[in-house]
Amino acid sequence: MRDVKGRIHSTESFGAVDGPGIRFVVFLQGCRLRCLYCHNPDTWECHGGVEISSLELVQKILSYKNFIEKGGVTLSGGEPLLQPEFCEAVIDGCHENGLHTAIDTAGTVPLEASKGAIEKADLIILDIKDIDEEDCIKLTGFSNAETLKTLDFCEKIGKAVWIRQVLLPGYTLKEDKLRRLREFLKPYKCVEKVELLPYHKMGLYKWEQLGIKSQIEDVEPPSDEEVKKAKEIVFGVID
Ligand code: SF4
Repeated sequence: MRDVKGRIHSTESFGAVDGPGIRFVVFLQGCRLRCLYCHNPDTWECHGGVEISSLELVQKILSYKNFIEKGGVTLSGGEPLLQPEFCEAVIDGCHENGLHTAIDTAGTVPLEASKGAIEKADLIILDIKDIDEEDCIKLTGFSNAETLKTLDFCEKIGKAVWIRQVLLPGYTLKEDKLRRLREFLKPYKCVEKVELLPYHKMGLYKWEQLGIKSQIEDVEPPSDEEVKKAKEIVFGVID
């Protein structure tokens, strides 16, 4: 395995929500998006975090191998694909040791840079921030065009994908958009799962700590009923 330097924000040894099974989650440093609901704004700064070599990181991951061998390793962030060579090296190291790998990404890094890492990972957890391009720009500062190209690429190469979307009232939590998302995803055979994640306010304190004004501090999380209905629409229980 090659040794490549990367920057990470933190790690989590026993992640249970970022891919199948119990997983070692690496939060890579750096993100160009500015999602209004981001709960990790402290990962945005590309030069922040700590530098680590891929060999050192894989050694650390292997010290938890007994706990994660039925789950695996997830590279999250921030935006992990901003450091594609580091991702590739870590994935290679995990595979050499029989560990399943996933990349949790917004898919906005152009494929010319990201495709190598996408090809190597076992699973892509792809966050479609908003199915409407203009609304996606309002929500994140970025178009969803590269994200959708990333999904097309996964379809072309038969890469397993889990889709994610945060349900943010007034933004993504709209019945017409949820129907649009459902219809859009229908033809994709690579999509194994769709996860709808209710917006929560637990990351707001980080915005305050960083002195950044949140535009959605008055937006309340969706009710259980709203989340249930959103899932029924996307999973085709109701039209
Ligand atoms: S892509 Fe993730 S890390 Fe980047 S701003 Fe959005 S929620 Fe935050």
